[in-house]
Amino acid sequence: GYRKGGYHAVRPGDQFAAGRYVAQRKLGWGNFSTVWLAFDVQSQRYVALKIQKSAPEFAQAALHEIEFLSEITKRDPSNRKCIIQLIDHFKHTGPNGQHICLVFEFLGDSLLKLVQYNRYKGIGFDRVKRICKSILVGLDYLHNELGIIHSDLKLENVLLVSTIDPSKDPIRSGLKPNLEKPEGNPNGEVGLNPIEKKLKMRARRVLAKLAEKRKSVVESSRSERSLDGIDLTCKIVDFGNACWADKQFTDFIQTRQYRAPEIILGAGYSFSVDMWSFACIAFELATGEMLFTPKEGHGYSEDEDHLALMMELLGKMPKKIATMGTRSKEYFDRHGDLKRIRRLKLSSVERILVDKYKISESDAREFANFLCPLLDFAPEKRPTAAECLKHPWLQYDEDKTCEPHNNNDAQSTGNTTSGACTNIDVTDKK
Ligand code: ATP
Ligand code: MG
Ligand code: MG
Repeated sequence: GYRKGGYHAVRPGDQFAAGRYVAQRKLGWGNFSTVWLAFDVQSQRYVALKIQKSAPEFAQAALHEIEFLSEITKRDPSNRKCIIQLIDHFKHTGPNGQHICLVFEFLGDSLLKLVQYNRYKGIGFDRVKRICKSILVGLDYLHNELGIIHSDLKLENVLLVSTIDPSKDPIRSGLKPNLEKPEGNPNGEVGLNPIEKKLKMRARRVLAKLAEKRKSVVESSRSERSLDGIDLTCKIVDFGNACWADKQFTDFIQTRQYRAPEIILGAGYSFSVDMWSFACIAFELATGEMLFTPKEGHGYSEDEDHLALMMELLGKMPKKIATMGTRSKEYFDRHGDLKRIRRLKLSSVERILVDKYKISESDAREFANFLCPLLDFAPEKRPTAAECLKHPWLQYDEDKTCEPHNNNDAQSTGNTTSGACTNIDVTDKK
């Protein structure tokens, strides 16, 4: 946390980069950094200031992120590619060391918050489609034009583009930029006697409780309201784990639930790992629940459970693929069957959408038709982002309905893959 090598403690009003940025309030945090809403005095607008932990490994990670973001921003001068733009970066020295800071355009809530505001019920297909389009535009740009694999796509790493001016939304921020320098030192406690300290701590606890209460009231009243001022385009963020397709840094990537099978098997990877994660995101937006939530069990690992869940939903993994990776022998026998999980409960994406999530047969069929090709066990068979953008499921009039156009080109993309997920050929092992 907040110690040597760790986070930099910030208070509203703190200045950065010789006074150019003034901290307003904390927006979020991750394993590597805290992120603050800041006011850019020079351009008179709000920005997001990511302040990295100071230890060398975090500094290294920040430089890595800057390398990718600089390229991404440089090649997209019109800022239309649905990827976060880097505005500036600099170093800031504080009591815990030297912190690399990244300055981004200010964005809104993450897709995870959006799903939470909707109480994990799914956000409706119109919105799912809009968001999917944005993500695909971003992925097409990353993959096709830049040769970058994001490697960690998930709900938290896609942020909505907020049209809300932070200065006009009292819930989200103060009423006007706070440009006051805070008094005292950042921890605020030094100089107080023990009794004062105790009282202050107690007051702080009470205030925190009240704030928590207010937050939960605000959040529950925001289920629909949270979409006000949001046009539902979104942007991909967090390039801390990105790599070049032709220069990879590690075999082991992605967050568990969004991880592609070839990563678990140790079979090498390319752009199509992002397409797998993208399908997981689309499913989660539509249903409010993660597509795969593997768990370790008696006698089998989380990895093996993950592979079993995939096969229950998508059919048996072709033997050639199953046995191809450097780790295949850990999970599969020589027939291409899982070693420890012998009985699979077969289903399909379409069935689950209808039976578990009560989605209409026709919506479920169209959606499954879009998703299943992306969940192909053979990475090279997964459609690219550009191909997905042409899929009938995404051809609709933005302003009116979601009726697909009869676009022949797009139709053929859909047809080649239709039925892929309903033809389950795994036999139930007795
Ligand atoms: P991780 O552990 O996920 O790698 P990290 O330390 O690299 O985290 P980010 O994921 O880049 O940090 O950012 C942390 C959080 O800060 C995000 O999940 C988001 O809530 C918020 N955030 C980041 N960038 C912005 C932005 N441009 N506008 C608004 N909020 C942002
Ligand atoms: Mg993150
Ligand atoms: Mg990161």
